[in-house]
Amino acid sequence: MPIDATQPYDDDNIFAKILRGEIPNKTVYEDDFALAFHDINPQAPTHVLVIPKGRYVSWDDFSAKAEAEEIAGFVRAVGHVARTMGLVEPGYRLLANIGGHGHQEVPHLHVHLFGGRPLGPMLM
Ligand code: C5P
Repeated sequence: MPIDATQPYDDDNIFAKILRGEIPNKTVYEDDFALAFHDINPQAPTHVLVIPKGRYVSWDDFSAKAEAEEIAGFVRAVGHVARTMGLVEPGYRLLANIGGHGHQEVPHLHVHLFGGRPLGPMLM
């Protein structure tokens, strides 16, 4: 079920549990600001989720409340993952689902990184 992106942060959400090490994940990259791991239900040969370490439900509260250092660290982590996974050439897709209309299901901000095959035009 899609979430309400304006809801308060829920410390029991699945990505909070992954960040605390309570649920296993296939980590691709981790630093002070971000964790990247393989999606459990991949939609492309490469399907990685990158999440900030802070308690942010959506792009809205992340962009409004996070420190500049956190935002820069997260953006750099996404780029680092794409580069180190060899996706820059031939290319890849970034996607963030936000709130009800965006069909966001996990209430911790995450960016999907898809690659490994031609992805075609974006479908709405
Ligand atoms: O963007 P949205 O919230 O809809 O996507 C959540 C994503 O989190 C899904 O692609 C789902 O497969 C993934 N997921 C995961 N590991 C979990 C739970 C969900 O990779 N334990």
